[in-house]
Amino acid sequence: MTKPTEELILHVSKPEEHGESIAAMMRRMIAMIGEDPNREGLRKTPERFEKTLRYLTSGYHQEAEKILNSATFSECYDEMVVVKDIELYSLCEHHLLPFFGKCHVAYLPDKKVIGLSKIPRLVNMFARRLQIQERLTSQIAQAIQQKISPLGVGVIIEARHLCMVMRGVEKQHSQAVTSAMLGSFRDSKPTRDEFLALIRPSKTQ
Ligand SMILES: [Zn+2]
Repeated sequence: MTKPTEELILHVSKPEEHGESIAAMMRRMIAMIGEDPNREGLRKTPERFEKTLRYLTSGYHQEAEKILNSATFSECYDEMVVVKDIELYSLCEHHLLPFFGKCHVAYLPDKKVIGLSKIPRLVNMFARRLQIQERLTSQIAQAIQQKISPLGVGVIIEARHLCMVMRGVEKQHSQAVTSAMLGSFRDSKPTRDEFLALIRPSKTQ
């Protein structure tokens, strides 16, 4: 899996572009909602918030090209490759609240494959940006399509959005499901069905 600390260091040490730091703004925001930013429990919160926000948006400083570059291989393997149940945590761009769940990625290779461990890294890269679930889903699919030109790509994300459940907009346990199907995953029902069967949770365990 990824090494969060490495990414954290990379992006916390970035110099300020606009004078006021995120932490200073957060300190003012805490005062604006009627809290005392100087009370003990809150004193270091603005700095923690800045660090966290920079980490959760560190995907802006990464490129799919770099993640996948050293990890594509020529192979004559021509069956479907599926990486399922990738844990996913992202921030909804409308409320800056988390949405989280699982991502399933599959592709049908055309002479090229991607190192399996790179797929969760690719998912993390796009997830660590301000997102909507629909765009996140299609960005993952497009990146794989562009990098190895497979016969097809399928991506499905099942996620719960805190902006829905915390604000009581929807039922507490509802999930949003989005999918992006490219190439043979779009054109061929058997391919799509195979993907759906492979990601179905196994019943006996
Ligand atoms: Zn939202």
